[in-house]
Amino acid sequence: MQGTLKVDDKISARIRGWHQRFEDLQAHGLYFFNQPIEELCGGVRVRTGGREMLMFASYGYLGLLGHPRINAAAKAAIDAFGTGTHGVRLLAGTLKLHTELEQTIARFKHTDAAVTFSSGYVTNLTAISTMVGRHDVVICDKLNHASIVDGCLLSGADLVRFRHNDMADLERCLQKVEDDAAKLVVVDAVFSMDGDIVNLPRVVELCQKYGAWLMVDEAHSIGVLGRQGRGLAEHFGLAASQIDILMGTLSKSLASCGGYVAGGHDLIRYLRYTCPGFIFSAGISPANAAAALKAIEMVEAEPWRVEGLRDNALAFSAMARARGLDTGPANGSGVIPVMVGEDAAAILLSNDLFAAGLNVQPLVSPAVDPGKARLRFFISCLHTNTQLAAAVDLTAQKLRSIPQWPAAGSPA
Ligand code: PMP
Repeated sequence: MQGTLKVDDKISARIRGWHQRFEDLQAHGLYFFNQPIEELCGGVRVRTGGREMLMFASYGYLGLLGHPRINAAAKAAIDAFGTGTHGVRLLAGTLKLHTELEQTIARFKHTDAAVTFSSGYVTNLTAISTMVGRHDVVICDKLNHASIVDGCLLSGADLVRFRHNDMADLERCLQKVEDDAAKLVVVDAVFSMDGDIVNLPRVVELCQKYGAWLMVDEAHSIGVLGRQGRGLAEHFGLAASQIDILMGTLSKSLASCGGYVAGGHDLIRYLRYTCPGFIFSAGISPANAAAALKAIEMVEAEPWRVEGLRDNALAFSAMARARGLDTGPANGSGVIPVMVGEDAAAILLSNDLFAAGLNVQPLVSPAVDPGKARLRFFISCLHTNTQLAAAVDLTAQKLRSIPQWPAAGSPA
């Protein structure tokens, strides 16, 4: 460790303690994260540690990352605009490309307008903390993404959490809020640890009944749910206007980086002039804006991608269950967990699979409850049936050979 830590202060002690734990994990072969990808090898293959691996850890649901047409659009944007944006969006930092991207997102999401930010994380942080503040109440599903929770904490509003996807509990929470308080309900569309889908029709009804605004995080549903990949509202056959604030990221199915909020004209104009994440931070780079724009065009022009993803996710789930793997509550999104149990067991399993050429990452506490560690498989429309079957077989086989199997709550 670099010798700049002070001898005796609490921050230095915290950093040293963290390093100690990290080194212990490494010494036991239990540290697995941050492995660099060296290059894309086509389809769902990447090179890591000099080896070609089959990828089950990528958010690239629609197989668009590295696509020649997207790369060409990004390169053309660099030629036209350079690699940066002159500064913050409000001043000289808005490019024609940003405006085109925002109009395209609004059209794709069937909303009046949209505004983009430099990351999905920043989008949640800045949009939520702009919409609500002290004396307001924000009501969240217990399993909402960390960026939503951080946005709520930053806002200073009272944060109330209801049991995961439990509509009776959501109603109880709404009933307890003072009538005159501003109320915002925030939910993930697809919960990123479990792959299950929020009960949107009931959430909409409850928000209407209790006069609450509704915000949905579509990070894992844009390009995934709905026949045309338009997301959660399309999946349930509801109008997009039933959701007040449609948030999403460009970093998953859309092969780019950045986040957006789509919604009514008044809301979007308000956010554009008030969100600190827009006013005080540079926008999406030209290459990333052009990549996202081209990706949306391709989602619309090539519906086989969304269909293929859905078919692959269903096929993977069916095969996994048939082999006795516990896929938890996953139900038709591109995220499919395989429950393992103890943290160490999930890490060892993922190490074993890695050695066998499969890149699938473990989720351990505190990201999930202790004892609920799992591997999280991300499915792509480009996986072949043979690759899906091989991954299931290998996982079932390796799982049975690790010490903690069978874990509590898993099928024997
Ligand atoms: N929301 C959800 C549900 C996510 O899963 C993520 C990323 N994992 C984000 C927001 C943040 O998005 P980004 O990585 O684009 O910052």
